[in-house]
Amino acid sequence: MPMEKKVKKSLSGLPERAEIVILGAGLTGLIAARELLLAGRRDILLLEREAGPGGLLKTNRSAGVTIDELPHVFFTKDKRASAIFRKMTGPVHSYRHRLGVMWKGGYVDFPFQDNISQLGLEDRKVVLRSLLERRLEENSARPGNLEEYSLRELGGGIVDLFFRPYNEKLWRTPLSGMDYAWLSSKIRLPGAAGLADSILGGTRAGKEDVAPHAEFIYPRQGGIASLVEGLLRAIRPVSPFCGAEVLKIDAGRKVVHTGRGAVRYGRLISTLPLDRAVRLAGLKDCYKAVSRLRATRVVCLQYALSAVNLPPYHWIYVPDPAVPFYRLTRADLINPRAVPGGKALLVECSIPEGGSAAGLEKRVTASLAGLGIVKKKDIRKVWLSSHYPAYPVPHTRRSEDVPFCLRRLSASGIISAGRFGEWSIYNMDHSIEAGISAAGKITLP
Ligand SMILES: Cc1cc2nc3c(=O)[nH]c(=O)nc-3n(C[C@H](O)[C@H](O)[C@H](O)COP(=O)(O)OP(=O)(O)OC[C@H]3O[C@@H](n4cnc5c(N)ncnc54)[C@H](O)[C@@H]3O)c2cc1C
Repeated sequence: MPMEKKVKKSLSGLPERAEIVILGAGLTGLIAARELLLAGRRDILLLEREAGPGGLLKTNRSAGVTIDELPHVFFTKDKRASAIFRKMTGPVHSYRHRLGVMWKGGYVDFPFQDNISQLGLEDRKVVLRSLLERRLEENSARPGNLEEYSLRELGGGIVDLFFRPYNEKLWRTPLSGMDYAWLSSKIRLPGAAGLADSILGGTRAGKEDVAPHAEFIYPRQGGIASLVEGLLRAIRPVSPFCGAEVLKIDAGRKVVHTGRGAVRYGRLISTLPLDRAVRLAGLKDCYKAVSRLRATRVVCLQYALSAVNLPPYHWIYVPDPAVPFYRLTRADLINPRAVPGGKALLVECSIPEGGSAAGLEKRVTASLAGLGIVKKKDIRKVWLSSHYPAYPVPHTRRSEDVPFCLRRLSASGIISAGRFGEWSIYNMDHSIEAGISAAGKITLP
């Protein structure tokens, strides 16, 4: 019989040493662990601050419902990420998206910029006038920020009516303080011919591939947490060590200190937020760069309802600054088992750093009732979940600050990866690739 190698552990059960330590058991960390195991590495320790793994991918399964804490659907052009997602979750529902924008007491189709013909005459005039004025200016200089870029691409009308109010509500940052490189992974911009179609109607622009998430899939069973559960099965016998917040990284001695003891490591992957990793490792020359990093908190309310009054859009964008939420998701149209015999509505609110969510549930419920979307008598139950960081803000100096910090961490032997580890607006497919790439830095020559 082969001899079991004895692993020395502290009183809390934390091993004293592991060949590879991964900080954070969200999607990126779990994928990295799977990849390392596939490459034959066995001595892997995942450290997670929360009571359970999954990070942003959590599903509320209390009281018979299956509702994700934050709305998640899977879409990608990456075949490898898609195959992993399907393998981990099992059978999926497939959808072609139907999206809307809440607009002046009604709804128009999303993308807003492709459906200007659905607006009233005055708004259409505003859009057209701004485009004509813009073309006359003929400004060909490279835009310096999202404000300049969106004005150039969409004209002031669309920017003022939708793009600015929606994005400033989501990001809690002025457009002039943001970069625009990330935009192409979220929306397809219409161009001059597309805008003409959009305003005049008829041959509608954007009928084909209107957005990266035009086709999406969703697990048939268990909600988005089934992806995490599939990964936990795949990495057995490795199991995340939870409730262990990382408090310090001593990269010189190769020791990670947690609230439940210290562990020595051979190689280290961090999926912690970049600013946190830099500070935990004491990389003082990065402090200035990370002080510029900002993120939003997303508070998401999950409503289990008997009835809801909305058109059958999968999700609806809400630009109106007077309404406390930026997006509504009809979870029951994506997951028919979300609320047995009822409807499920996810309501996302963005809170600026340091801002308070006090009284939010009351305000959101009053707003939904005031808009005629929900009747109070139809509310079966409401849950609230709060996630920080949720959206890493793509600030204008991101392209210098983030690579600089990543290089410094790497020079200290810390591989930083994932949505917050790389401070990039990663979707699940990007996080899957980030986990694979982080593991490759250890396994590939
Ligand atoms: C509102 C919202 C909606 C989204 N919708 C979609 C969607 O529809 N489709 C899609 O593809 N993607 C979506 N995403 C993106 C997706 O959630 C992410 O790409 C992915 O979950 C990120 O995984 P990660 O492991 O990189 O980060 P995380 O999930 O944040 O994992 C990091 C882990 O590190 C842990 N940690 C942090 N600090 C410490 C510490 N000091 N010590 C120990 N552990 C620590 C955290 O607890 C967490 O578990 C959405 C994101 C948000 C916020």
